[in-house]
Amino acid sequence: MKNEKIVKLCANCEAKLNFRTTPNFGGGKLHDGGRVCRDCFQKLAKIDTGFGLNSKKIYDTARVKEVLANPDYFAKKQIQAKERKSTIQTSSSTNEKNVTVESLVKSVKNEKDLKKLERQSEKYMDKFQESDNDNTRYEKLSEIYQDAFDKACDIIFYYQFTPELELNTPRSILDFAYEVVNAEDYEKIRKEIGGTDYEWTEITGDCVYDDKLENALEKRPFYYDSMVKFRQIVDRDSSFETKQEEINSLANSDKSFFDEFFDRESNESAGEQWTKELLYSYGVPLIDRLYDLGYNTPQKIVEIDLEKIKSVNGLGPQKVEQLGIAIAKIKKNIL
Ligand SMILES: [Zn+2]
Repeated sequence: MKNEKIVKLCANCEAKLNFRTTPNFGGGKLHDGGRVCRDCFQKLAKIDTGFGLNSKKIYDTARVKEVLANPDYFAKKQIQAKERKSTIQTSSSTNEKNVTVESLVKSVKNEKDLKKLERQSEKYMDKFQESDNDNTRYEKLSEIYQDAFDKACDIIFYYQFTPELELNTPRSILDFAYEVVNAEDYEKIRKEIGGTDYEWTEITGDCVYDDKLENALEKRPFYYDSMVKFRQIVDRDSSFETKQEEINSLANSDKSFFDEFFDRESNESAGEQWTKELLYSYGVPLIDRLYDLGYNTPQKIVEIDLEKIKSVNGLGPQKVEQLGIAIAKIKKNIL
């Protein structure tokens, strides 16, 4: 019954992405909107242990292909980083002015601070050149600021909440989706909102240095507003029939919403598909059959006489028992 969505392909090997081949927990998404399959995800994670957490931030399709084509890509980068680290330590221990790379890095909280470091480095380099390359103190300071700048590019400035949105995503999550929080507020807010590591995208200095913050953020999908309206319809205290009608007109008014969550090929309306999905989630057996018999809302399902329904073809004792359990669940949760 799950809807046939537009078929998406792995950005690397072009395997079809279905529930068996898609990485779990929203993993494997790329910066350019692509996604890799479970196999490619595992290969990438072997090469770069941070791939799972960083894929959406620093990987696009081209980089994925490049990394998979050169399995030692990441090992080389790590060696380069180590070499750079040792340079930083040397320079910070030999400066005169008590300015250290570490203290400068600590002072960086946002992209403004980051730009300041770079400007300062340029300023000292100018001074060094003005002194006919004689005053090496300026040269040293310029290096320290430059190293601090490079390091601070890795600092996380912001987190964006980017949950996997489903039709049954609760309103509280929906309302906070795509919001951005400062790194210093992150822990507190994450405790309130929840979510997995995958659902909180790190935005580091290098993401926002060259570009505006808004360009580094994941955008709300086109159907987001319709999801909010959908939630309002479902949460409202109105009859089930009314909800179905309202869902139908909402789905018909927004093609992107319909295509994301419903099956266009089906001859059932969006409201019917939603109802069946809901009944399915409560474990109701033989939904299509019951539907045809007129039991097409949770209200009508709970009114089924289990004794009488036994005479219906296909409803053996096991199914009837399953139906009884589902009815109890529906009563407890939605009616
Ligand atoms: Zn693949």
